[in-house]
Amino acid sequence: MNTHRVAPALVATAAFVLPLALGPWAVMAPAGVAAADAVTAAVVEQDTQHDDPTVGHMPPTTYKGGMSDATGKKVIEAEAKRLGVTVTWKHLNVAAGEYAVGTNKIVIDPDARRMKEADAKTLVRHEVAHYRIAKTCGRVNPPIVGKRFENVADAYAHLYVGALSYRGYGWTAADQAIAAKLKAGTCMSGQTTKTVSWAGKKFSGVNGSGSYTVARGAKMTIIGPTSGGNVLVRDAAGRTGYLDPVSWAKATSTVTVASTGQVFTTVAGGKYTLARGARLSVLGNWGSGSALVGDAQGRLGHVSKDAWAAVTKTLTVKVANHTVFTTGAASAGKTVAGASYGLVRSWDGNYHLMRDGAGNLRLVPKKAF
Ligand SMILES: [Zn+2]
Repeated sequence: MNTHRVAPALVATAAFVLPLALGPWAVMAPAGVAAADAVTAAVVEQDTQHDDPTVGHMPPTTYKGGMSDATGKKVIEAEAKRLGVTVTWKHLNVAAGEYAVGTNKIVIDPDARRMKEADAKTLVRHEVAHYRIAKTCGRVNPPIVGKRFENVADAYAHLYVGALSYRGYGWTAADQAIAAKLKAGTCMSGQTTKTVSWAGKKFSGVNGSGSYTVARGAKMTIIGPTSGGNVLVRDAAGRTGYLDPVSWAKATSTVTVASTGQVFTTVAGGKYTLARGARLSVLGNWGSGSALVGDAQGRLGHVSKDAWAAVTKTLTVKVANHTVFTTGAASAGKTVAGASYGLVRSWDGNYHLMRDGAGNLRLVPKKAF
C-alpha cells in the first residue's frame, strides 16, 4: 500500500482503483483514507486522501479472451458516456482506472481496452460510483463511509450502476447498507436540513456545482462537518458546496437602532442607511466595534454597535460655542447652552460620544459640560 497525499488543486486525478485482474490480485485490503479536511474559507476545494493501492500493472496478456483495442476503446467510451462521464486515456502505474475528484471525468488505462467487455464495463461503473457518490455528498469519502470508501464504491457500483458482483475491493452487508444510504442522499449520521434565515453568504460549489449568493428561505442539507468555518451542504437543487453556517444561526440578542445615519453593509456587497427604530438580530462580532447582524428582511450584514449603544445618562450643555463634530470628524455646529445630549461613552480625553435629540451621534467637547 503506497499512500500519499496530494493537494487537490494540483492534481487532476485521484486513484480510485479497480484491480485489473480477477485472480489473486482482485482482492485487496481496504484503501485507507486519512481524515483530511484542509478546507479554508477562501479556497473551497474538496480535499481527499488519495490512495494508491500498489497493484502490479497488468500487461495486456492478462486479458485473455478480451476485446480488440479498437473495440475496447469504443465500448469503454460508450459506457462512460451512457453514465454521464468522459474518459481520459492514460497509462496508470497502479490501477486500471481512476476518478478525477471534483469532475465528471474518469481516467482509464489504455490496457483496459483489452479486457473482456463485461469487466471493462465494471471498471467504468466502479469509477462512476465514485463520481455519483461525490455528486451526492460533495466528496468521495463522505462521513458515513469513512475509510471503506473503495469497498462502498464497489457495493454502490454493483447495486446501482450495474457492475458485476465479483469482488474488486470486496464489500460487506454493512458496506451495502451504506451504499443504499448514499443512494438515498444520506452522507452523514444525524444529517439535518436547515432553512437559511440570513441571506447573502456565498455558496461555493464543489464538483462543478458553481457558486451563488444564498437567499433567505433556501433549504440546505448538512452533508459534512464544519471545516475552516464552513460546512459542506447540498442545496434543494442537489448542488453540493460549502456555506457559512451563520446563514441559519440563532440570534444572540435583538437590538433597536437608536442612532440616525448608521450604515448597514451587507455581506453580499450592498449597503443602505438604517432607519431609527429598525430591529436587528445580533449574530456575532464583526471586527472591533461592529456586529454581524441580520435585518428584518433577512439580509446578513454588519453595523457599528454605536447604532444601538445605550445612553448612560443625559447631560446639559453649560458652555456655548464649542464646536461639535460628527463621528466622521465633520463640523456639526456649535454647542448651545441648555441643549441636552445622551452620553454613550467617553470618546477620548476631550470629547464625549453623545446622541442628540434627533438620534445623531455627535462628538461634543467635554468642557461644554
Ligand atoms: Zn475506486
